[in-house]
Amino acid sequence: LKASGKDPYPDWKAGEPVPYAALCTTFSLVEMTTKRLIILAHCSLFLQQVLRLTPNDLLPTVQLMINKLAADYAGIELGIGESLIMKAIGESTGRSLQVIKADQHEIGDLGLVAAKSRGNQPTMFKPKPLTVRGVHEGLLGIAKVQGHGSQDKKISGIKKLLSAADSATAGKGNKGVDITNDKGGPSEAKFIVRFLEGKLRLGLAERTVLVALAQAIVTHEAAVAGEKPPTPERLAEGESVLKSVYSELPAYEVIIPAMLEHGLFNLPKVCKLQPGVPLKPMLAKPTKSITEVLDRFEGKEFTCEYKYDGERAQIHFVAPDHIHKYPGSAVTLQRDQKGLSAIFSRNSEDLSKKYPDVLGKLESWVKEDVNSFVLDCETVAWDTINKKVLPFQQLMTRKRKDVKVEDVKVKVCVFAFDLLFFNGEHRQPCVKKSLRERRDLLHQCFQPIEGEFQFAQFGDTNVLDEIQDLLEESVKASCEGLMVKMLDTSESGYEPSKRSRNWLKVKKDYLAGVGDSLDLVVLGAYYGRGKRTSVYGAFLLAAYNPNTDTYETICNIGTGFSEAKLEEFHKELSPLVIDRPKPFYSHSTVPKDQPDVWFEPRLVWEVKTADLTLSPRYKAAADEFEGTTGGGKGVSLRFPRFIKSREDKKPEQATTTRAVAEMYRKQEAVAQETAGKRGVD
Ligand code: ATP
Repeated sequence: LKASGKDPYPDWKAGEPVPYAALCTTFSLVEMTTKRLIILAHCSLFLQQVLRLTPNDLLPTVQLMINKLAADYAGIELGIGESLIMKAIGESTGRSLQVIKADQHEIGDLGLVAAKSRGNQPTMFKPKPLTVRGVHEGLLGIAKVQGHGSQDKKISGIKKLLSAADSATAGKGNKGVDITNDKGGPSEAKFIVRFLEGKLRLGLAERTVLVALAQAIVTHEAAVAGEKPPTPERLAEGESVLKSVYSELPAYEVIIPAMLEHGLFNLPKVCKLQPGVPLKPMLAKPTKSITEVLDRFEGKEFTCEYKYDGERAQIHFVAPDHIHKYPGSAVTLQRDQKGLSAIFSRNSEDLSKKYPDVLGKLESWVKEDVNSFVLDCETVAWDTINKKVLPFQQLMTRKRKDVKVEDVKVKVCVFAFDLLFFNGEHRQPCVKKSLRERRDLLHQCFQPIEGEFQFAQFGDTNVLDEIQDLLEESVKASCEGLMVKMLDTSESGYEPSKRSRNWLKVKKDYLAGVGDSLDLVVLGAYYGRGKRTSVYGAFLLAAYNPNTDTYETICNIGTGFSEAKLEEFHKELSPLVIDRPKPFYSHSTVPKDQPDVWFEPRLVWEVKTADLTLSPRYKAAADEFEGTTGGGKGVSLRFPRFIKSREDKKPEQATTTRAVAEMYRKQEAVAQETAGKRGVD
């Protein structure tokens, strides 16, 4: 591919807007392979062409490639339901809704239904071809429509895009490509519809686009400087620079213009963590026992913090006269606000409208003159009478949006455990400092206020009995257990977006032998029996495979639900019912295993299990066990129990099938060890 040196789209000239058809050609090339290196090469080649011909369109091009119209914190959601899209396809191609529905029933992929409808449509006049920028703007318009009559406006926006799609090929049977084949031609209609559904289904991970972008820019910069093509080492260097910048500042809106202006290798100087732009939080690895913790941290200083059971909250603050220093904050900034106070979830979702009571008090938490900070915290429901932490379920009863301070019934206390940015000392974030330094700074600059803002309780000890005592105390204080963290050394820096071995979680449940819980996506349901026939009584759950972008089934679950919960889920899930399973669901096809209804992948539930087994009925991680188990068997959960809804997680953040496989293998290893020991006894 590299040797051919060919541009993937020969008709587009320098300075012209990037044709959407060119992007779709690249998508089709990507779709035709599963090899990551080839996918990477296609994307990098295309991005090089964009850089050479129309660099100003680089940002919308990357956004369309990652299926996101803006950074997560901008709160722009598409995920438009099937029925609306079907209506728009019908109306824009002159086919009845019934025919579209029948096609969907037969083909099962709305993207291909759109391509087929468009391909069969006689064209009276030729609309102007779509551009990447135009499609991005069109989709953004659709996403932003709100309020009265928004459904109709959305449909009309979709129709506009679809009518202009494939203007070169429409009416010609799509150049004879078999569009009912999933690997069909570069149909623009197909990719517009898939974008609207929230999944391009190309097997193109967001990470791959980031790497392709780094490679493209390194190659482009070398060419512009008249140098030889970059060596693999230089490409890897560029990749690591971009990855590290993106983990501190996950906003292409800021990074891409800066990269075009200053060059990739200068990015770390100009693009750093900024208050106003949530960074992806650091995550912890699960551990099974305190002795495992001691083994891991042997000879190192570490601390054991209480693990509060609430909601992750990244709290950002910038004083009005400093806001101009942080361009990324413009997205977060409310128009009537001069300074910035915002709370972001684990998912980088803006929760400011959920916590106005907290935001109103930020300035009173700080001891000295402050102009900006970013805190990593957990918000927890607080019992104001008995002055103690309340269980997580209480926090969940709070309204999520447009909360008025005077209506707040469930008070929250914020427990701060990290300080990532403070007063922008020469715009240096604190993330590279050791945890001990960050913690000292946090304690120095902020003042705790009981029931409102407190520091996470901790003990710095490496004595097993003392850790055990801390764990018990934490549980008594309504916490989930401990977070054990590396304290000194360079390894104790804050690692955005990483599930790091330098943070270990020790939950009380692990110790009881229950194991970690899983966060799973609800794909289907079965109607209840007896008293429960009007609601769903059991559900089909799945784990996520990020490599293939599929949801792989893992269990049926029917226990752990109260009657009220079942009612609530019925209400929540009914609008998500779809005609047939999505093509990216991996499930048993045996008739008796089919659920009564299928859903759009939206809800994520936390589930606990007694143990894991292999079963032909489920598909989770089946590819990992192929060959060893006679094939076709996936990991499944025995006696799964519902714990809670994970409203803070998107379906793509569900437990991965790789993690499921790891859990299964660990369990097998333990079982063998125990069996071995028994043998010796
Ligand atoms: P993860 O966030 O690791 O994917 P999860 O969302 O299921 O997993 P847990 O397994 O409960 O969460 O553990 C991590 C979470 O614990 C953090 O994301 C944070 O919200 C919370 N937490 C509570 N106390 C602390 C603390 N002292 N330090 C770090 N995180 C804490």
